[in-house]
Amino acid sequence: MVARVIPVEPFDLVIFGATGDLARRKILPGLFHRFRAGQMPAEAKIIGSARSDMDSAEFRDLIKAALIEFIDEAMRPDDLVTDFLDHLSYVHIDAMGETGWSELKKALRPETTRTFYLSVSPSLFGAIAERLSLNGIATDDSRIVVEKPFGHDLESAKALNKDLLKHFDEQQIYRIDHYLGKETVQNLMALRFANSLFEPLWNSTHIDHVQITVAESIGVAGRGGYYDQSGAMRDMVQNHLMQLLCLIAMEPPSKFTPNSVRDEKVKVIEALEPVATGDIVRGQYRAGRDNQSYFDDVGNTDSRTESYIAMKLSVGNWRWAGTPFYLRTGKQLRDRASEIAVVFKDPPHNIFPNKMEGRKGNALIIRLQPDEGITLRTTIKEPGPGGMRLTEVAMDMSFADALGENLMSQDAYERLIMDVIRGDQTLFMRGDEVEAAWAWADPLIAAWEEANQRPVPYDPGSSGPEEALMLMHQGGRRWRPIGDQAF
Ligand code: NAP
Repeated sequence: MVARVIPVEPFDLVIFGATGDLARRKILPGLFHRFRAGQMPAEAKIIGSARSDMDSAEFRDLIKAALIEFIDEAMRPDDLVTDFLDHLSYVHIDAMGETGWSELKKALRPETTRTFYLSVSPSLFGAIAERLSLNGIATDDSRIVVEKPFGHDLESAKALNKDLLKHFDEQQIYRIDHYLGKETVQNLMALRFANSLFEPLWNSTHIDHVQITVAESIGVAGRGGYYDQSGAMRDMVQNHLMQLLCLIAMEPPSKFTPNSVRDEKVKVIEALEPVATGDIVRGQYRAGRDNQSYFDDVGNTDSRTESYIAMKLSVGNWRWAGTPFYLRTGKQLRDRASEIAVVFKDPPHNIFPNKMEGRKGNALIIRLQPDEGITLRTTIKEPGPGGMRLTEVAMDMSFADALGENLMSQDAYERLIMDVIRGDQTLFMRGDEVEAAWAWADPLIAAWEEANQRPVPYDPGSSGPEEALMLMHQGGRRWRPIGDQAF
């Protein structure tokens, strides 16, 4: 299958923090891929900005080096790289200072839609938004994109929202959660709302429980300072896992418009029941043969921050009453694997006595990584004579096989940047959505901080702490093996 490329209107894109890691590793390579695909119009202008004092030629050299570092040689013919770099220029601005803004204003075209991508620390969001506004650079149809983390708690998220909303309307603000740009995550909506097969079963009458797993095999070495202030709850659950839960649990929106979709997601967060302390397990990895302990990685032997968390949640509404949602995420686990498993209840009456032992039951498994795809675990008759024996098989669909490797290789950033340019906010978090997620997370974090609880230790390369296994076993259920190709 060949990807349809729908060109976008000419745009002026200003990237603040254009010399930083994210801009060099994701944003500019993502833009290059869209340019290579023919999606970027000839009139598009990309203006990099940061504190570093350099001219446009030096900035192009920096980005050329980034493209060479982060894109396979076969994907970046020299002439295309040169043509892409022609779209780039640089304006030197210290976000906290007053110089450079008029130069930026001059570089922008009056009739062209402006997008300001803030790939900088959130502590600079307010200062940049204010200067864009006071210097008359932001227009009524400009867009502003902000990176994660969007706040550290409800109070800081509200403060960020307030700072942005002083100068931009909500329809102009794009809060990035790159998980929402993943092809498989978007496919959750297509799977649920473009098929008639699943939706009639998508409720507590038929679904026993849902497991959402985002497992990483690496530790926090290299970003320990940041991570130790954050932990798995703030870094992963409050944003990424919460988004996945919302897409699985939300009611069908009446239309596929940004606000209809986001209205339904907010309702899921608001419907979450309070979580009992016993339904949360927090862990910290020990030292292993090839890795240091979490304490050593963050340089704090008294750290109480979790590198792993598992929890059982209940969505208190008619659709989901009685169906638990189990979430887990962590570092230094046995594999890098993310999936959502929707596990169905057994048939109401078993006509095959003694033939169902050991059967795990029907499950729809949506793999986010690696090998994005969908597996439906189904029971069939074991072939051959010898009576009616049952076995389970996988009806398996890999997106790469079905749609082509190149369609699946697009990075989330490519899609999200193009959505901003098109003015489509569907895959971006609305202010009230972020605040609702923090309002849910804050009391849980406060409770364990107040109890000054130490997370339980777990072995690197394992599936997490024993206590997390028990969390499932108590309900007579089992976690799926992490990263195992078993269905
Ligand atoms: P980084 O490598 O530290 O880059 C920060 C950028 O901000 C640099 O270009 C820096 O330029 C610029 N900057 C710093 N202070 C400035 C100031 N006062 N005025 C103007 N520019 C200033 O950070 P990063 O990793 O790219 O992350 C950027 C943002 O994306 C952060 O909010 C981060 O949390 C978020 N994020 C990053 C990743 C990632 O993978 N890197 C992933 C998700 C989210 P100078 O050095 O020239 O000052």
